[in-house]
Amino acid sequence: MKHKLKLAAREFYARVLFHTGLHAVVNAVMPRRLTILAGHCVSPSPSSEHLPSEMKIDVHALESILAWFKARYDVCTIGTGVEKLRQGGGKSLVALSMDDGYRDNHRVMQPMLQKLGVGATVFLESRALDERRVNWSHKFFWILTKLSIAEFIHRYGELCEDERSYHVANQYVTEGREDPVYQFKRLLKYETDPHDRDRVIDLIFAEQGGDETRLADLLYVTWEEARAMQAAGIELGGHTVSHAILSKLEPAEAEREIREGRESLKNNLGSEIPTFAYPWGRRWDFNEAAEAAVTRAGFRTAVTMHAGTNRPDTPPTRLHRLAIDENAKLHLLVAEACGGFALAAKFGLKLSE
Ligand SMILES: [Zn+2]
Repeated sequence: MKHKLKLAAREFYARVLFHTGLHAVVNAVMPRRLTILAGHCVSPSPSSEHLPSEMKIDVHALESILAWFKARYDVCTIGTGVEKLRQGGGKSLVALSMDDGYRDNHRVMQPMLQKLGVGATVFLESRALDERRVNWSHKFFWILTKLSIAEFIHRYGELCEDERSYHVANQYVTEGREDPVYQFKRLLKYETDPHDRDRVIDLIFAEQGGDETRLADLLYVTWEEARAMQAAGIELGGHTVSHAILSKLEPAEAEREIREGRESLKNNLGSEIPTFAYPWGRRWDFNEAAEAAVTRAGFRTAVTMHAGTNRPDTPPTRLHRLAIDENAKLHLLVAEACGGFALAAKFGLKLSE
């Protein structure tokens, strides 16, 4: 109930700021800030048809969000935004970022960005480009184009060594739990042994006729396309080698994921790579060791998936982002970007996510 009340208050406050034009007043009085938007795929595109709605945003919706900000804010890449924020002066900043390196970022988003004359930052999972391999979550979504969630969980149970996980997963279906796909994915992500999970997902993927190279080609840009994006003003950032949860790896392994991902980008793009995004990006997906490894690898900034805007004193390896997907609401993004939620917080009203 308390949560619902907060959502309603947040919605009301954001609408008032947006529709009355008060957002411009708030933006003028609040200190300068950098707001980073975070998405994955840009639709329509055959490559993301089978992916859940929280992984994509329609290109026209994205264009109208960016056009709105471009008329009032300095829209730039994360690298440029962080520099400008540090230097001081000028308008508040908005940066668009897209994670993983999906092909539609090049085919669908890039022409739209060029038309608007704005940049963006795309984070690349290097193994997908280097070896045309995909992480387990993409085999997971692909299997769901062949099997129902009940069939998938049943087969998973027959093949996995982790009986407990299977029983938990099976309950999602037998008890008619809301969104069993999301629940099953979360279980596989956080609660099962990653090696056993990868083995079983690989087996089911193969049984259903899955072709990893073809799936990688469908989903991810090639290095050539990455270079074309770079030439078009898109900043490319590090996102590890294989998109593992850094906090679950041994420190040496996490270090390797971060460092080798950056080296691959440097070798293939011929430029410095100052910006990194933690895979999955929630507080529990990375730790202090990973944060230190990011700096040691040569990155200057790292972004998370925790909501909020950034000020010059925000820790540079823990920058906030606002997730955008098919349900993105401009008035909520504006309330955050203009400093509206930060202003409310000064009066004890915590309305930010
Ligand atoms: Zn990612």
